[in-house]
Amino acid sequence: MTYSKCPVCETGGFKLSSTEVDIPYYGQAYIITLICEVCGFRITDIVLNKINPPTAYYAKIRSVEDLKIKVVKSSTGIIRIPEMGVKMEPGAVSQGYITNIEGILQRVEDATIMVKGWLKSEKKLDRCNQLLEKINRAVNGEFEFTFIIEDPLGNSLLVGAPGQIIKKRKLTEKQINSMLSKRKY
Ligand SMILES: [Zn+2]
Repeated sequence: MTYSKCPVCETGGFKLSSTEVDIPYYGQAYIITLICEVCGFRITDIVLNKINPPTAYYAKIRSVEDLKIKVVKSSTGIIRIPEMGVKMEPGAVSQGYITNIEGILQRVEDATIMVKGWLKSEKKLDRCNQLLEKINRAVNGEFEFTFIIEDPLGNSLLVGAPGQIIKKRKLTEKQINSMLSKRKY
């Protein structure tokens, strides 16, 4: 995140604050908040305490228990759920947050319901309804899916409880460059 001027009012400067949080089975992270002193626009992001190479994390979600896997998503984190056709890429003003898999499903559900209100095409409405149905089954542990988060700057990760299998793969130089070139700021 590099902002010298507020992207909303274009006049204000930012006030920075940070809060330390403890992530069980991982360690410390910092929630960084930038607040515009003029219009109050706020951006939050996550920075990890340890240096982490740019990595992709994979988890197979098979049960309600797996939905509790922690998701640390920084402003540069990209989330994918191939079985649902979900890809959450950082937008112009991307926020960082800490949640769990269930929290991400909730965000996808909210966004899908919002989008549905604007849609006119039957085909697209159908696709939204199918996604909502899958999310519904997933929160009850009745739909297996793969959850992937990758971050070209290494500030996003998945943290499971002992016994929960999370696979990691370092991103290649090519993947990192391609992700960073798509960033809008
Ligand atoms: Zn502002």
